[in-house]
Amino acid sequence: MTQANEQMIQQMVEQVLQHVQTGWGSRQAPAAGKGAPPPIATVSTGGGYVPPVRPGVAAPVAPAASGAGRLGQFSDVNLAVEAAKTAQRALIVRSLAQRRQIVEIIRRICVEQAEPLGRMEYEETRIGHLPHKAQKLIAVGENPLTVTDLGPRGFSGDHGITLEECGAWGVIGVITPVTHSLPTVADNACNMIAAGNALVINPHPGGKAIAAHGAKIFNQAIYDAVGIDNLICVICEPTLETANAIFTHPDVGLLGVTGGPGVVAAALRSGKRAICAGPGNPPVVIDSSAALDNAARCVIEGASYDNNLLCLAEKEVFAESVIFDAFMDAMAGAGAYRLNGQQMDALARICIEPGANGGHPHANRKFVGAEPEVLAREINVTIPPGCRMLYGETNATHDWVMAEQMMPCLPIVRCQTFEDCVAAALAAEHAFRHTSIIHSRLVDHMTYMGKAMDTTLFVKNGPSLAGNGSGGEGYGGYSIACATGEGICTPRTYT
Ligand code: NAD
Repeated sequence: MTQANEQMIQQMVEQVLQHVQTGWGSRQAPAAGKGAPPPIATVSTGGGYVPPVRPGVAAPVAPAASGAGRLGQFSDVNLAVEAAKTAQRALIVRSLAQRRQIVEIIRRICVEQAEPLGRMEYEETRIGHLPHKAQKLIAVGENPLTVTDLGPRGFSGDHGITLEECGAWGVIGVITPVTHSLPTVADNACNMIAAGNALVINPHPGGKAIAAHGAKIFNQAIYDAVGIDNLICVICEPTLETANAIFTHPDVGLLGVTGGPGVVAAALRSGKRAICAGPGNPPVVIDSSAALDNAARCVIEGASYDNNLLCLAEKEVFAESVIFDAFMDAMAGAGAYRLNGQQMDALARICIEPGANGGHPHANRKFVGAEPEVLAREINVTIPPGCRMLYGETNATHDWVMAEQMMPCLPIVRCQTFEDCVAAALAAEHAFRHTSIIHSRLVDHMTYMGKAMDTTLFVKNGPSLAGNGSGGEGYGGYSIACATGEGICTPRTYT
């Protein structure tokens, strides 16, 4: 080895160590409150590592600090995609430590401003239960997953070493639902940016203001900390046309869609790779061995949360005949209000609409996420203050069972055997393969139902929320990609 080579190697080792120790290599980390220095591809190379820039792609620059299209506020899809592209190019040459910092910024805002942001979301959408709006943002803030989720996979053997790394897609086209507008924007942004992407979001028109406001404060804080603007671009006046423009834009590499069956079908028709967090209609099975008081408490906790807006929330219950009456009493004991058969039918005629063209019945938008007393009032029933749930007996094909109601009114179906419960649950789930729940002390029943349902989440002896990191183990998210099979979306999903 020559002297020159030894010096070069020494220099390289020092540079690598500097990168490893600071995450910044030869660059200077941004001081708090200051913009970052330009991304490394634009600084003097000085022997430091410069990532290759694809031919025809301009070197990344930090976006302008003023002018149109700042802080992710856009009316035009083309301009939004252009801004997101610029932001993504600036992001991809930064360190993983900076991506982690950006995720932490979004999560910190979700926690610190949970109350005012939750209230803004409620005041705009007017659905769900106000105290849960802040909780949902705090849940985004407490998600443990970050860039570490991108950990590479290595192979080492007689012929050398191969390392698989997770690569970014670039600009992701995002659709968010009205049921959790800002939580989905924030959760998607954390996962997608951790994976090295920028977002162009077409929010639900019913939650567009909070989506745009959230993006604005996230972008401002990100810009202040690392000098990149427009990582999260929002179409402030979203329409089906703007959604379609995102779906077909040549610079949008991937779609991340959260919503009902219509938008999932539209995204899958686009011809692009689409990660689809689609609808659910989660059934619960209560078998004869179940701890009934615990089952009732769990069912009410999950089904009443945010007035049943969550896609994974309990939507119908199938109980074995021998414990059916005892379970109905346990529901009352746990604070739910029992409606009789006529009242369940009458309320269904008001709250559920028939499916078109042989489709499933669906919720009347006017009552989605309504408080239980509002539903009860529709049929001249007054419920005790503080009651969070209505319930009543129906048959297995009732509209309350077949519709994804997203309201705190739960149909309970009497089934002769455990196997009958599972068969009815399977029919009610409509092969969405989203979430199912069992209350049982029999492991073979749990296994039987788990295999029969084959849902993305399968929760045993807990509220549905426990399957999404809330009161259970693991992690959660606001996009559960049941329609395309990725499961609860994490940073790795968007690589
Ligand atoms: P929705 O389907 O009415 O709207 C969802 C989004 O899709 C909105 O932004 C809407 O504007 C857009 N959209 C609807 N049709 C479209 C089309 N043809 N082309 C392009 N965009 C279209 O649903 P919602 O009421 O906002 O949310 C509730 C639904 O979302 C429920 O079905 C619920 O289960 C589902 N959801 C699923 C998850 C999950 O993680 N799997 C999470 C939240 C909500």
